[in-house]
Amino acid sequence: MVGDVEPPLDRSTIWAYEDGEPGAFSYSRFAHPTGAEAERALGELDGGEAVLFASGTAATTATLLALLSPGDTVAIAGDAYYGTLVTLRELERWGLHHVLFDQTGPPPTGADLVWIEAPSNPLLTMPDFEAAAAHPGLVLCDATAATPVNLRPLERGCDLVLHSATKYLGGHHDVLLGAVVAKSSDHAARLLEFRTRSGIVAAPDPAWLLLRGLRTLEERVRRQGESAAELAGRLLGHPQTTTVRYPGFGGLISFDVADGASARRVETSTRRIVNATSLGGVVSTMESRHRWEGDRVPQGLLRLSVGLEPVEELWADLEQALEKA
Ligand code: PLP
Repeated sequence: MVGDVEPPLDRSTIWAYEDGEPGAFSYSRFAHPTGAEAERALGELDGGEAVLFASGTAATTATLLALLSPGDTVAIAGDAYYGTLVTLRELERWGLHHVLFDQTGPPPTGADLVWIEAPSNPLLTMPDFEAAAAHPGLVLCDATAATPVNLRPLERGCDLVLHSATKYLGGHHDVLLGAVVAKSSDHAARLLEFRTRSGIVAAPDPAWLLLRGLRTLEERVRRQGESAAELAGRLLGHPQTTTVRYPGFGGLISFDVADGASARRVETSTRRIVNATSLGGVVSTMESRHRWEGDRVPQGLLRLSVGLEPVEELWADLEQALEKA
């Protein structure tokens, strides 16, 4: 409506034809106005064409199935989000192969798609963008933890950016959503076609929540980054931490305490920081990642996603929890 301050949320699944012809929107599995507006806004932030999916994992699955073929190989950062590796293992059955590599150096030759993550979750390494961009295959960067506020991978030579919008882009732990942003219109069109035919679409409500989240993205991410940098520095000097990982930007920190039992005591002792999975919300969360990822991460590793609480309150909470380590 004229004068609306918030973007409209249109839950229609159909729109009437005009003079017997479908218009821009006809059936919501193809596209819907709220999703199209969210794609426009996210595409602008990343400098490409965005396509929304039902989750970050749906975006991963769609990219692999739509842009690759049986027999192709994905070279993926060995410390990429463990769920992406699980998805790739699932797709082995369909003839899609993958090899792991150290993303701080060049990707192996012969891969059809190079998959990097900036920064990786939860070891927080950064890829060598120059080496990745020099690879002849397609290059995708999962920039979930960086967000377009800190990183625009299409400007660093990548062809595709993937976001779990469930994290910082949504920002409030109340929306499950994913997106791929493509540099080329051909890739975006192919992803759109695959989304329509496979039906792994994003509904209007999550798209609306993404639009709401994007309105405060820059302020949230900037403040979370300032708090995280402060906390990472203090954790580094704490007698109970053995390793602290922080890439120098963003709201994610991972740090190690002595062992798995210590990590369990610390994560269950916080009062302000919620002991839960996921990241990127206005509420701080922390958990031991060993429960999900097994021995690919140290037993004592804790991943902290810094929210918008006052930094001194977060530090007081961490200090009292670390006393239990
Ligand atoms: N990529 C990264 C870096 C993630 O951390 C996650 C989820 O934790 C995903 C992708 C998958 O996103 P979703 O949970 O929205 O499917």
